[in-house]
Amino acid sequence: VPWFVAVIDGKPDFRVTRNGAREEAYRFAKCWICGDKLGAHLAWVVGPMCLVNHTSSEPPSHQDCAEYSAIACPFLVNPQQQRRPYALPSGVQSPGGVALDRNPGVALVATTTRDCKAFGDGSGGWLIRFGVVTQAKWFAHGRVATRDEIIASFTSGIEILRDLARTDGPEAEEELQRQYERALEMVPA
Ligand SMILES: [Zn+2]
Repeated sequence: VPWFVAVIDGKPDFRVTRNGAREEAYRFAKCWICGDKLGAHLAWVVGPMCLVNHTSSEPPSHQDCAEYSAIACPFLVNPQQQRRPYALPSGVQSPGGVALDRNPGVALVATTTRDCKAFGDGSGGWLIRFGVVTQAKWFAHGRVATRDEIIASFTSGIEILRDLARTDGPEAEEELQRQYERALEMVPA
């Protein structure tokens, strides 16, 4: 059971983050998966769109812990598996930001230096912006993802971000395009 998972009525609910876990992990540099101290490198388990805006709602993990969860987590392994928002315990809050309510189909383990910063999302929540990505490893169905799978996930996800950027005006759209091209450079040939 990953360190962040809430235990509800004696059973771990993998959809729910334990109260205060995000704050504790971020502030004390604890691995999101095992809870031990992080080292010089941070590994973020994210969807492809998080590579576009370098933003994650979940704190980082050790490289090995991140790769393990990208291979073993049922939600990340089975792209057909939808998020299950029904019957969430009362009091469960969204972490903040605009989460894309879709299964990206591809899980990315993005490795960075310790350079990251929490910021407010403007509506009471907070997210983490991570720095330069030094390595990107892609997974789908519990194995290494193919280029086609990665590109398919990018092209469906970017349309959602483009719709959001459009409401913010042309500058936001241009900035998004720059970020998108930077992210595509991390896709294997
Ligand atoms: Zn760990």
